[in-house]
Amino acid sequence: MLVIRGARVLDPSKQLDQIADVVVEAGRITRIGRDAGEKLAGEQVRIIDAAGLWLAPGFVDLHVHFREPGQEYKEDIASGLAAAAAGGFTAVCPMPNTRPVNDTRAITEMMVSRGKEVGGARLLPFAAITKGSAGKELTEMADLKDAGAIGVSDDGVCVMNAAVMRRALEYAKTFDLLVSQHCEDHHLTAKADMHEGSVSTRLGLRGWPRVAEDIIVARDLLLTEAVGGARYHVAHISSMNSVRLIREAKARGLAVTAEVTPHHLTLTDEAVIGYNTYCKVNPPIRSEEDREALIAALKDGSIDCIATDHAPHSVLEKDCEFSEASPGINGLETTFAALLPLVTKGDISALRLIEALSTAPAKVARIDGGTLAVGARADFVLLDPEKRWTVSRETLRTKSHNTPLLHQEVTGQVRMTVAGGEILWQR
Ligand SMILES: [Zn+2]
Repeated sequence: MLVIRGARVLDPSKQLDQIADVVVEAGRITRIGRDAGEKLAGEQVRIIDAAGLWLAPGFVDLHVHFREPGQEYKEDIASGLAAAAAGGFTAVCPMPNTRPVNDTRAITEMMVSRGKEVGGARLLPFAAITKGSAGKELTEMADLKDAGAIGVSDDGVCVMNAAVMRRALEYAKTFDLLVSQHCEDHHLTAKADMHEGSVSTRLGLRGWPRVAEDIIVARDLLLTEAVGGARYHVAHISSMNSVRLIREAKARGLAVTAEVTPHHLTLTDEAVIGYNTYCKVNPPIRSEEDREALIAALKDGSIDCIATDHAPHSVLEKDCEFSEASPGINGLETTFAALLPLVTKGDISALRLIEALSTAPAKVARIDGGTLAVGARADFVLLDPEKRWTVSRETLRTKSHNTPLLHQEVTGQVRMTVAGGEILWQR
């Protein structure tokens, strides 16, 4: 028996935000409430004093890159799951742009079984929409689902052909799979380095205009409406106009969903000044106007959830010329610290932040989790909102360190991550 005493319990599934005790038995939450753990003692009882800490459902990440198979020098399933646990995540969804692409039952099964072997956070992969993510021929989605895929995506590239995308939505609907789209009209972004705007002009870098995202979001919303009943999800939304399109679609009753990354919520293209390759990411971090629109949409629910797009790269891919650098930010272990200032500044409430990291993504992908209800799987995280720490190679468990927060002091630390009643991580 595990008894967590006196934490600020944040459970968005119940709109609960109060000081309470949480009791865990046999991997499940069995009691919750003020003084629920008061008289519990004995040899089999582990009591954790959590005064001053937040207790929230385990975080669920619908978008990570674990690089296995094929590029294990950047990250592998073991190091990725270790980073997930250290970041407070109890379920993670690796994208299929591995080498080879996860477009077959064999690779999906390998990833799932490797995840189980390693243990820790649950690994629930996305498989590809098209073979080799080449945008032409659809994958065998029935097989992929059967092997454990929770959705399909060609992340890294966009499904450019509207006829292929239409068939993908129809086919995925048959198997009730989530379709996550990387929205980028590649004709508008050839060789692009960063957000197209005054900063890209000043730096002499090629621009990635926000309209390249907007066009695909608009097209896909129309396709989703035409198909009817498909589960369409916008990955890493970055543009204020895409946000407007999603908000309008939801207002008309279309069941679409969207995710936003911590870096798009906290950084702008000004961070690229100095040619900082650690701020090169796809889609690019955009203007302050976009950032504010993303926060407003997260607040009003137009954007459902936060996903890290954890994209580890080695120094080989980052310590080079800006145009040569691979896009991507390593995010799993810095998510809470990166986002806590939004709560401190009053941009969003603590309960909404936790919801966007746990209850909402679990709902979008229909993953068991995101709640502290009695009887639920004991997947939760203890957070210290006051703790200051320095992001460094020594404090991270991922294999790669490509985060703009490297060497920075941040506030907000994950103190303990528990999944199925087992302590995965503690500090
Ligand atoms: Zn992507």
